[in-house]
Amino acid sequence: MPSSYSNFRFRFINRWGSAATLFSANGRVDRENGIDLGGSQLQYDDLSDTLLDGNRVGLVLKPYLTLTRPLTDQLQANSTVLVIEIMDDFAFNIKSAIDQNRTSLAMEQLQHAGEAKGKPNLFRKIACPKCYAQTDVSNLASPWIYCHYCETIFNQFQQTLGKSEKYRLCPICQYYNRVQLFPEARFYFTPKESRASYQEIECCDTCAQRLYETIVWKNAPFLFALPATWYLRFMYTDDRDPALAELAQANRLAQDGDLKQADVLYSSMVLRNENHPGLRYCMGRAYLQSGDNKKAFYNFREALEACHNYEPARKLLQLYKKEIVEK
Ligand SMILES: [Zn+2]
Ligand SMILES: [Zn+2]
Repeated sequence: MPSSYSNFRFRFINRWGSAATLFSANGRVDRENGIDLGGSQLQYDDLSDTLLDGNRVGLVLKPYLTLTRPLTDQLQANSTVLVIEIMDDFAFNIKSAIDQNRTSLAMEQLQHAGEAKGKPNLFRKIACPKCYAQTDVSNLASPWIYCHYCETIFNQFQQTLGKSEKYRLCPICQYYNRVQLFPEARFYFTPKESRASYQEIECCDTCAQRLYETIVWKNAPFLFALPATWYLRFMYTDDRDPALAELAQANRLAQDGDLKQADVLYSSMVLRNENHPGLRYCMGRAYLQSGDNKKAFYNFREALEACHNYEPARKLLQLYKKEIVEK
């Protein structure tokens, strides 16, 4: 279990998406006092969710909170979200420290509520092996458990499903796949487009392959950006989960509308991964995209059978429930 407090440096991100100040301020997360952001305090009860995007952490606050003026000034437009940029590559650790403390307090409250009702033995909780946030598993009897906070899938012995600590929904294509921060270097001058830029982009192996194919030939004449582009290719091909070796290709075929070929690859992976909620989710998503709602529904149900609290499948089922039932 990691330490229960963390000190960090941060900057607020303003409503236009850039840092609000030139210099960073000091922050601290600890179990007793909550979150300190440059002298302004937030309690864990004030939060309804936390988000992570690269080195930025989003703190989703409950509505109608009374905030101090410095915090009110930093809220994103028309929302109750504070976004902070964490320095020194600590964003995941700080988000995890916040999630550990607030879930641990929430679980204590649930436990006390169970004791008050005279049912102390019915309450069960489990900590995620990657981020250590706790999940209530009192009513969860499926083979796999989903961590809402970091999207890792694990079992009751806290063993992750394959390399699932590296796999989650891609923020670009929304398919389950391995997600990483890829380098996007562009250095080319063509009559139609001139670019000299470098940024990191968070996406899955399939989206990274598309990016590689888009920029490699443009970068080739000037050589300058080629090493970063080759490294991008190395990253999306290297060290995949062997059990999901064809997943990136299957997702690409599905996204491009070739469901017949995609299904061949998905089916061969299902033979090796009978109860894989992420794989079933991809198949459901692919069938939903192709209009075969019956097969989509079947695969989402299989995903939830394997992992009762698998939110991606649950959300899509709720979203398309009406259309799936009507067809
Ligand atoms: Zn987790
Ligand atoms: Zn993607």
